[in-house]
Amino acid sequence: MRRWDPEASSRRRTWILLPAIIVAAIILAVVTYRTTFKIEALRTQSLSEVTFGLADEKIDRVDRAIVEADDAVISLGEGGRPDDVPKRWRAIMRQTPTIAHVVVLDATKEREIVGFASRAPGPADDAFRVLFLRTILADFDLSTLPLGELKHLHKAYDGQFYLLAYWRVPFRTESGASGERLLVVHHDLDAVLRELLPQIVPDPGTSTPARVNVVDDQGNIIFGKPLITSDIVVAKRFPTTLYAWRLQVAPLKADELAAQMRRRRLTEMALLGLSCVVVVAGLIVVLIATAQERRLARARGEFVANVSHELKTPLSLVRMFGELLMTGRVASEEKRAQYLSIIVRESERLTALIENVLDFARVERGKAAYSYRDADLEPTVVRAVEACRYRAETEGMRLELEVAPELPPVVVDERALQLAVINLVENAIKYATGTEVVRVIVARDGTVGGEDAYSVKVVDLGPGIAPEERPRIFERFYRGKSARSGQVRGSGIGLALVWHIAEAHGGEVTVEAGDDGVGSVFALRLPVRGPGGKGAPPPSSRS
Ligand code: ADP
Repeated sequence: MRRWDPEASSRRRTWILLPAIIVAAIILAVVTYRTTFKIEALRTQSLSEVTFGLADEKIDRVDRAIVEADDAVISLGEGGRPDDVPKRWRAIMRQTPTIAHVVVLDATKEREIVGFASRAPGPADDAFRVLFLRTILADFDLSTLPLGELKHLHKAYDGQFYLLAYWRVPFRTESGASGERLLVVHHDLDAVLRELLPQIVPDPGTSTPARVNVVDDQGNIIFGKPLITSDIVVAKRFPTTLYAWRLQVAPLKADELAAQMRRRRLTEMALLGLSCVVVVAGLIVVLIATAQERRLARARGEFVANVSHELKTPLSLVRMFGELLMTGRVASEEKRAQYLSIIVRESERLTALIENVLDFARVERGKAAYSYRDADLEPTVVRAVEACRYRAETEGMRLELEVAPELPPVVVDERALQLAVINLVENAIKYATGTEVVRVIVARDGTVGGEDAYSVKVVDLGPGIAPEERPRIFERFYRGKSARSGQVRGSGIGLALVWHIAEAHGGEVTVEAGDDGVGSVFALRLPVRGPGGKGAPPPSSRS
């Protein structure tokens, strides 16, 4: 049959629950972490898409504007008179503000110029003609170009960019032979940058960095200013016309958005970290509380066993001597008196023990009430010491009481103070058995809580208390190692009660080693004026 062990089952529950909570917390942390980054990636992606759209739209508008100018020139050549295009273009020059030159070549005869018109005739025209015939023309991709199709050349010559549009047009000579003309339009890139681009790409102003600019293959800025620093910059090539250049776009407030994203990520990570810390801290607190609860439950169990045992000894003595007296076979009157006094003292011990337990129970329930009255210290302590004298004598020990002269009147609960002193003296007798003397010293003794104090010291020459145990012996149910191993009977509530009584009187109880490290000195130090403080009238009760 299995034994019922509540402690083991609670321990089992804790050890099953603990890993489950840790695993749940880890899963939660990982999922939150991943979601945060996924959301951020999505945000970046959608921002990039919007920016791409913006770049596309601008590029398209620039391209269209240039092609429209080209188309205007093409339309002049329709009707089979391409040689007249330069002349006619002069008439519509204002509609094509970016075009600088229109050139017509005889495509079949060694590329001879048969028509030429300039927006601003002058010496620069010759330089252009020379460059065009010697260098630019060779870069035209005519072999694969179908008749009538428009094509562009965008390239740098001697560090300067040129944009030319060209197309092949069929042509019938006066003699009726069929030929071919090459129509070429030279766009002035200065005009493109000056007039066309500003209409499409807004001027970012003089001081702020730009959102949009145009750069060449090497990244040199052709138009605009350096871009605002940003995580997201979209760069797109002009598809047909200005294809040697790229348009770069940084999204609106990209830097702010990036900073915002970074801030949000940091906050989310910090919150995540904080929740993990809280979970771990919570677990630790729960673990400590459970361990404490378990220890307390164990201590309570031991307490019940100890108290029953404590009660049993005096009870059996009372019973034994009572029965002896009842038989009437006690020889002498002297013996009768001795037995009776044993019965009375053991009953007193029983009463004290029960009082201890009842007082402790009241303290535990927060119901301990004390009646503070003006009292004389000496008779109070004397009564307490006398209550222990018989026990000391049966253990072969002397009880010495030293009371300093001229002690002030005090405000105390006499019964409680006696109980505290009895507990200290009984402990001294209990733990210092085999030694000769226990001394009780009452005297003025410094201050406590800023008030003049007196102390009742109980000095024994017993084994003393190990320094590491000293802070714990005032805990309820705590029993020292030597008490447990030396089989000294006790319940572990005596000193807890003394502590509570001292506190309720506005005082303290301390323990230290005796002279030369022998034995222990317990000092119950209380303020002269009692719990009400300096000069205050004593309260009738206090819990
Ligand atoms: P107990 O019923 O065990 O005596 P107490 O609360 O009175 O409980 O004391 C708590 C522990 O303090 C004891 O178990 C013992 O280890 C230690 N102790 C108390 N008084 C003395 C003393 N005079 N000498 C040595 N150890 C003491």
